[in-house]
Formats: sequence, structure tokens, C-alpha cells
Amino acid sequence: MWNNWVPGKVGILAWRTEMDRVPVFSLLAKRNIRVNSMDCPACGLMEETTEHILVSFGLAQSVWLAISTWCKVPQLFTFSVRDIVELYKYSKFPKRKAKVFHAVCLVTLWCLWKARNDMVHNGSIVTVGSVVEEVKALSYLWVKNRSSGSTLSWSDWEKFDSF
Ligand SMILES: [Zn+2]
Repeated sequence: MWNNWVPGKVGILAWRTEMDRVPVFSLLAKRNIRVNSMDCPACGLMEETTEHILVSFGLAQSVWLAISTWCKVPQLFTFSVRDIVELYKYSKFPKRKAKVFHAVCLVTLWCLWKARNDMVHNGSIVTVGSVVEEVKALSYLWVKNRSSGSTLSWSDWEKFDSF
């Protein structure tokens, strides 16, 4: 699942989320690390698990819906991080485009996790639009700079076209 069109830290985070090794409240509590509450910091309705905060929670679902619409893949009905990082294998994209789509999925996990941390540590208000814009901007920057000789323009990127 390694993708050299995103920075190593992004790949590592995706791997850690897949292995359920990011410090969500429910895991910290299991390790006897004191947390004030195991509740999701965003909705407060559920225990915070990796799957909840990155996949099934309302904001995450809306982000994944926006990403699937942008990338023109069928709407994602997925319930685990593993499904998300393996999605590119089932896209009908040619090889290069599938790699771009994989990179976008990894960057989306990165941005959702960052948004979660902003909520927890800085009390930030996070919106679907702000996360999606960040995913598009960061993935554009990284894919353009890392896929050698790319002449990718922002307008093509916004259409998720011409790779
Ligand atoms: Zn929640």
C-alpha cells in the first residue's frame, strides 16, 4: 500500500490507522491512560474509535462522499479504514490514475486525523468544506511535485482529470 506520491508521514499515519494504532480516546482508556471521557470529541454521541472518527462519523462520511464525487467513483459505503486504503484496487482507473486516487485517500485520512486533533487540542471548528479543500490542495501539491514530470494544472486537478 506504499505510495511515494505522498510524504512518508502520510503513509505512516494511514498504516497506523489501519492497524488501529492512533491515540483515539477509547484506545487510550484501554491502555489505562487517563482520559476525561471516551466520547467522540466531535459529536459526543459515540465512543471515539478510529473507525468512528475517520470513517463512520457524520463529518467523515460527508468528506468521503465529497471525495468520491470529486474523483467520480461510486459513493463509498465503507466501514473500515482498510476498505478505504484498498479502494483504489477496485476502482476501474488505469494504473496511474489509480495511484493518484490512492494518494487522495491517504491524504484524506491525514486531513481527517489532523482535523480531529485540531478539535481536541485547539477547540477548532471543523467543517466538511474546510477538510475537503485541504485534501484537494495538499494532494495536488504532493502529487504534482512527487510524480516526476507532472504538468498537472489545478483546473485539471479540480476535475480529477487528465493523468
Ligand atoms: Zn462522533
